[in-house]
Amino acid sequence: MTATLIDGKAVAATLRQTIAARTAGLGFRPGLRVVRVGEDPASGVYVRNKDKAAKEVGFDSATIALPASTTEAELLAEVARLNADPAVDGILVQLPLPPQIRADRVIAAVAPEKDVDGFHPLNAGLLASGQPGLTPCTPKGVMHLLKAAGAALPGARAVVLGRSNIVGRPMAQLLLAADCTVTIVHSRTRDLPAECRRAEILVAAVGRPEMVRGDWVAEGATVIDVGINRLADGRLVGDVAFAEVAAHCAAITPVPGGVGPMTIACLLENTLDAALARRG
Ligand code: NDP
Repeated sequence: MTATLIDGKAVAATLRQTIAARTAGLGFRPGLRVVRVGEDPASGVYVRNKDKAAKEVGFDSATIALPASTTEAELLAEVARLNADPAVDGILVQLPLPPQIRADRVIAAVAPEKDVDGFHPLNAGLLASGQPGLTPCTPKGVMHLLKAAGAALPGARAVVLGRSNIVGRPMAQLLLAADCTVTIVHSRTRDLPAECRRAEILVAAVGRPEMVRGDWVAEGATVIDVGINRLADGRLVGDVAFAEVAAHCAAITPVPGGVGPMTIACLLENTLDAALARRG
């Protein structure tokens, strides 16, 4: 391997320390509420990790666990209660939601100034029009990693693989805001490998284990692997074939230990930002 490893665990730890230090000087505790509906085991792990990380930096954090049978109206009522609670600065409704609840209705019901996931259409619109707002945590984390890796962004050709509202689209907007020349590629793109080979910065967020092969990546590129895929044998791999790609790119994130730890750190950063914006 010749590539530099981008250590997300270390960058996230530094960011969390900075947030803890800033929180200690505030004179109040930013309030975060994570709402979980049902028993999805993966969501359970994510929610516990978020709550623990929030408490560690000194936030007033709590998880609201609702039964799988919760109706959309009941969840909307809970969101309305949290919107109105002055002690609450950040609200996160863990996805996926059970089938009887429309996720888009719930996302749109969260007060935009408390929307620490950055999924509300108002925040998505602010990001798309280059205005300040709350930004989705995973792509925000990727920007921190690119900065930590010393990537030269202005004018760089960036390719984002994937166009979801959670990762791909906001990722492309953040790279555009950082003056990259951005291409978004997806399942209907002709000749994905050729598009990816043009990238000086390649961000993969497809959810397909090891899809990006060594010959898809240009010599000297910076590669960020957002994918988290559990294989049948229990191994956790990204969307990038790590060893093949690391042999000739300049810098790469590992899975695990790359983008994953940044997502939670950026949730904390968004909660602190939301608290400061609300309380002055
Ligand atoms: P989605 O399934 O919502 O989106 C996947 C995107 O990849 C879609 O735009 C889809 O294209 C595209 N795609 C799928 N298959 C192909 C293919 N064969 N060729 C080209 N494009 C393809 O996933 P998410 O964006 O939510 O997540 C992506 C990955 O990132 C997952 O592995 C997820 O687990 C991981 N993730 C990691 C996080 C972290 O904290 N590290 C946080 C969030 C996600 P189309 O739109 O055309 O269907």
